[in-house]
Amino acid sequence: MDRKVLFAIATLLLGQAQTVSGRENLVRVTTSKDVRAGELANVYLNWLEKPPNSLTAFYTSCSHPNDTTPDDIIGQYTVRGQHPQRLAWAVPSNAQSDNCVFIYNQDENHHNEGSSKVIGKSKPVHIKRKVQKRSAAEMGIPLLQDFDSLGTWFDGVASIKQKTDYKGGVSSGASPKNASIAIVGGGISGLATALMLDSVGVHNWEIIEASGRVGGRFRTKYMADTQEWAEMGPMRLPHSVTYKEDNETLLYTDHQLTFQMAEILNTMNKNASRWRIDFIPWIQHHPNELIAQGTRRHADGRIPTRGEIEANPDLNDPPSMTSAEYEDSEKKMDNILKDTKTLKSIQKDVWRAHKTAMDEGLDDWSEQAMMRHVFKASENVTDQIWTDSDYDVFWDELHHNSNLGLDGSKDSLGETHWLCIDGGFSRLSDAFLPHIKDRLTLNRQIRKLESVQGPNDTSRTRLSWYPSVSNRTFESKEYDYTIMAVPFTMTRFMDLPTFSSVLGRAISEAGLRFKSACKVALLFSERFWEKGERPIFGGYSKPPSDPVGALYYPVYGLNESRPGLIMHYRGGDWSDRFVSFSDEEHVQTVLDSIVSLHGEQARDLYTGDYERLCWLQDEHTATAWCRPDVEQHKLYIPAYHKTEHNTIFIGEHTAPTHAWVSSSLHSSVRGSVQLLLELGLVDEAKELNKRWMGRWIKL
Ligand SMILES: Cc1cc2nc3c(=O)[nH]c(=O)nc-3n(C[C@H](O)[C@H](O)[C@H](O)COP(=O)(O)OP(=O)(O)OC[C@H]3O[C@@H](n4cnc5c(N)ncnc54)[C@H](O)[C@@H]3O)c2cc1C
Repeated sequence: MDRKVLFAIATLLLGQAQTVSGRENLVRVTTSKDVRAGELANVYLNWLEKPPNSLTAFYTSCSHPNDTTPDDIIGQYTVRGQHPQRLAWAVPSNAQSDNCVFIYNQDENHHNEGSSKVIGKSKPVHIKRKVQKRSAAEMGIPLLQDFDSLGTWFDGVASIKQKTDYKGGVSSGASPKNASIAIVGGGISGLATALMLDSVGVHNWEIIEASGRVGGRFRTKYMADTQEWAEMGPMRLPHSVTYKEDNETLLYTDHQLTFQMAEILNTMNKNASRWRIDFIPWIQHHPNELIAQGTRRHADGRIPTRGEIEANPDLNDPPSMTSAEYEDSEKKMDNILKDTKTLKSIQKDVWRAHKTAMDEGLDDWSEQAMMRHVFKASENVTDQIWTDSDYDVFWDELHHNSNLGLDGSKDSLGETHWLCIDGGFSRLSDAFLPHIKDRLTLNRQIRKLESVQGPNDTSRTRLSWYPSVSNRTFESKEYDYTIMAVPFTMTRFMDLPTFSSVLGRAISEAGLRFKSACKVALLFSERFWEKGERPIFGGYSKPPSDPVGALYYPVYGLNESRPGLIMHYRGGDWSDRFVSFSDEEHVQTVLDSIVSLHGEQARDLYTGDYERLCWLQDEHTATAWCRPDVEQHKLYIPAYHKTEHNTIFIGEHTAPTHAWVSSSLHSSVRGSVQLLLELGLVDEAKELNKRWMGRWIKL
């Protein structure tokens, strides 16, 4: 049903000769304080008598309510036993100021009586026009809260308009803020959603978490009763970047939400030392990192350092391919993947950059297909360039190049400055506990989601779980809505209702693609790598072993006389293969690699304490992060923004960026706003959008 048809039905039922008489006091009608053309607003209904079964809302001339056009209709609603408190109003961009909202009784019997159908009327509504904001870039201070993002990914106005067109409109129940909400998954996206809903007065949620702790992929492990912690999950956050060509320093705006979240939690926890989150610098690269892959040895057999290779590029192995065709294809790829303007646009406004990449068709081609069929490179050259990197989708590699790719080396366009959390990332997820622990259920793994009939012809969700591994009789609980904050690698184990085609395929095992990673941390009684002629403080070395790949020296306790750890971190295909290793074999392989760089002293100083986690083996994750295939962003992301079976999917995998904490947090803003709009709570959705830097959401 489009707006014109809706209008025709509404006016037919009302009759064209409505007269406004004295029965305007059945419901008191007010609106949001701030009503802006082209945005969403709430119409508040305060019922003085029992509402009719069906009603219509118009915004039209206060004195001539008969002169209505299809644009004036706010919606047509069936009252299902409850007194609707609010209506969601997509205010047309050309709406006249100082008209009134009229509520009409649309009951047939009422209509037949021929009495007045106007049962409520607002005072004239002042409609504000949009002030064109200066963009973050123009202001030179890219604070997310000041965003005027064109790259809107979640269009709340369109969503309400669509619902008005197809369903008649969005109205709330009698007490929308009391709707019961299950948040499945206590990772950062679930935790943040809970806090965001609380912040706008929606408190009736429950976090249901499969494991015995919150934090999900946040996995800080303190080793052997020492103060050394190993980050088996996230360990660093890009904060700012300085470009070489113009010395410009930019903040990573998409990561600001992570820093903001920590600040908010610190304030909520009154800076109590138990919960406090402090950021400290993370050193991503150090000049004395040892680079044993793709390099020659010094004359005395020593492995060269990063600094030495920078000073003498002859220490690099000669490139395996140098043909003109190769150089030309590489240059064409770099024009897309390493363009300063594009990388800066990602740092300034990742949503707009993402949208541009989608609009430019970068999600339509794999990197291989582009090289072969557009750049006309041979199979051999294509394969050489493709296997040199870990990526095959342009957007993913672009995002990588905008942070990890800016490593300060000679060939790089700039250098990223990194931060990490003093005491570990789990401090960030633990800091939520004082605010959520009264509504948290641990050790409950959801295995089934159903759409069930609620009271008054509404629908709800029912969640089921097994009480234990041996007891396979489901226990269940019903909620008005479910926010599913677990990766699809886990929802794939759930019995789910049938979702619409695209969403169903994204969830299915043939759909959204995921990747894995392994980390192994070894504890040493001394920080031997920080001593000697070429001390290493932070960064990571590359041992000769290709499978081991990278050995990190975490920055905590730099240059202090305390134990320390070296950490093996490997993604890509290797992490899938390492799953086949026993703990012992994996740890010994890593130790051998450390010895190959630092000599036998490493073996002597190894304490025997280790942590190992291959994320494919993690019971409640079974992935490290999402790595969409070609066209999956363009096709799937809009599908997450539609609520089906009263269920909203959030989490790192549903955002325009992946594998970052900020990806999860932005999905929480979007999911919370989506839920509030479902409940008709437009004012709260707007407040949340503003408070949590979700200006990329159009409301
Ligand atoms: C190895 C690694 C390194 C990383 N490095 C960084 C980094 O340096 N910087 C950065 O910013 N990000 C990094 N990330 C990414 C970041 O950790 C994630 O994006 C983020 O933590 C994901 O949060 P989430 O809430 O979306 O999902 P999760 O953390 O996976 O949360 C999902 C939750 O759902 C629970 N669950 C699963 N199934 C069920 C079920 N059936 N019923 C109930 N509960 C269930 C899980 O136990 C979990 O608690 C890294 C991730 C990994 C794995």
